[in-house]
Amino acid sequence: MPVDVFNKVEACYQQAERYFDRTFSRPQVNFALRGKAAGTAHLQRNLLRFNALLYQENREHFLQQTVPHEVAHLVAHQLYGGGIQPHGPQWQAIMTAVFGLPAQRCHTYKLPPVWKTLYAYACSCREHGLSGQRHARVLRGYGYVCRHCKGSLSFSGRVERKLVER
Ligand SMILES: [Zn+2]
Ligand SMILES: [Zn+2]
Repeated sequence: MPVDVFNKVEACYQQAERYFDRTFSRPQVNFALRGKAAGTAHLQRNLLRFNALLYQENREHFLQQTVPHEVAHLVAHQLYGGGIQPHGPQWQAIMTAVFGLPAQRCHTYKLPPVWKTLYAYACSCREHGLSGQRHARVLRGYGYVCRHCKGSLSFSGRVERKLVER
């Protein structure tokens, strides 16, 4: 478990407690989140879910922005209850005044592109970059087919490191 994330959650709560001069009950934290979201806050359950994969690829941004963003949702909920907008003025004030951060909404998170090793495959119409996982599957006998020309993909012998946007 990424201990840095737990420490950052705790640090955010201590900042909020100093600022509001009250205590906040600590949430459960897990790393079960998959997909494109870096983190989610579950207000009723006082639960934070983080994406372990995105954390590994973007540690700095994750600790600086994602963790405070999600903690601010739970703090806002404990302060003001369920009647507020998720990214409304109360949440924004916690981000800027308490954490000293820009109040960016979840979907405006700009995750930096990642370096990926891609194996260059070709069909009869174009080139395809396959992940190491897929390339390994091909080596075990699995065949991939181009969804445009329906031709089967064959390995060109080239391996590339590419910056991939997410
Ligand atoms: Zn949010
Ligand atoms: Zn093709």
